Amino acid sequence: MSDRIPVCAPVFSGKERAYLLEAIDTGWISSAGPFIARFETALAGVCKVRHAEACANGTVALHLLLHALGVGPGHEVIVPSETFVATANAVRYTGATPVFCEVDERSWVIDPADALGRVTAKTRAIIGVDLFGVLADYDALRAGLATLKRDDVVLLEDAAEAIGSTSRGRPAGSLAHAGVFSFFGNKTVTTGEGGAITTDDVALGARMKFLKNHGMDPKRRYHHPEMGFNYRMTNLQAAVGCAQLEEIEALCARKRHGHARYRAHFADVAEIRFAEVPADQSAVPWLNAFVDEGLASEQARDAALARLSERGIEARPFFEPNHLFPYFGGKLGDLPRSERIAVRGVCLPSGAGLTDAEIDRAADAWLAVRKEVR
Ligand SMILES: *Cc1c(COP(=O)(O)O)cnc(C)c1O
Repeated sequence: MSDRIPVCAPVFSGKERAYLLEAIDTGWISSAGPFIARFETALAGVCKVRHAEACANGTVALHLLLHALGVGPGHEVIVPSETFVATANAVRYTGATPVFCEVDERSWVIDPADALGRVTAKTRAIIGVDLFGVLADYDALRAGLATLKRDDVVLLEDAAEAIGSTSRGRPAGSLAHAGVFSFFGNKTVTTGEGGAITTDDVALGARMKFLKNHGMDPKRRYHHPEMGFNYRMTNLQAAVGCAQLEEIEALCARKRHGHARYRAHFADVAEIRFAEVPADQSAVPWLNAFVDEGLASEQARDAALARLSERGIEARPFFEPNHLFPYFGGKLGDLPRSERIAVRGVCLPSGAGLTDAEIDRAADAWLAVRKEVR
């Protein structure tokens, strides 16, 4: 159906095509080529950090960062359960154990008190996740770690969903010791598949550059003093990324506009709750996410989503809390707040290219289907 509204389609309104053709025409298609450093410099500028390291995708960027920090077997890393699975999987890839914590009832990002209560002698890092573009409270996490006298615990930011968001003028990706981005096809800024780490720690940056390139000695070809990985971004990805970053202001403005329109549309429906964004933040919403307290169960939610789809509107549920996946071994009731939010959470179409008419159609359709499934 041509008038289907996708949940989050990319927008290429800048030089994406021109830069991509430039990469192809010059023959620079692999992980050497001028767009990669250019993309890293531009991203560091957007995030106001000293170093950005581009990677093949956000998941390997998370793994690279944790590995470079020395996280491994016997260690614990605290992560919110309500996130995309990549955050916790990356911890598991290192051999460390993800320790799941709760999210705040109103903002749906990591609950600092709950996270800090789970710190043990084995804890090496806490990863805050900027869920749907709302920034976690890194100042509270940092202060809590200082109170616990645990300056050995590294604070990290999974900013995959938050490019463009700021807290008192400080951008996503700059709020912890290092930040991680994803440039997957549905993210606010995309390179198809892609990711990056942003940090002011230039030594860490250099170590990640070495490790993502098979751990090859930069001065001695094919000599590998340490086991590394091939986690590099290609010049093709970076070409698209450079064009996308040139358009970031417009992309973020469209995201904000669409989100405000949904909020206004649902303002009179008390049961529909959007994330409460802390007053010191300017958030760029990734997805137009809300909790509908009128949904009695997961079955009701899925029935409503199916009816939306019949009306040509693609929507999606919140992430399933990660502790419930069989290989993480948690059980229902372990993190009731996360479980409750996830069951009633819905994301409506969120692409930066949506028209007001499409947003209104999606919002009206939700108001209709939520009644039908009661
Ligand atoms: C998208 C995303 C990632 C990384 O995903 P990739 O598809 O590997 O780029 C990581 N964490 C969160 C919270 C995400 O939303």
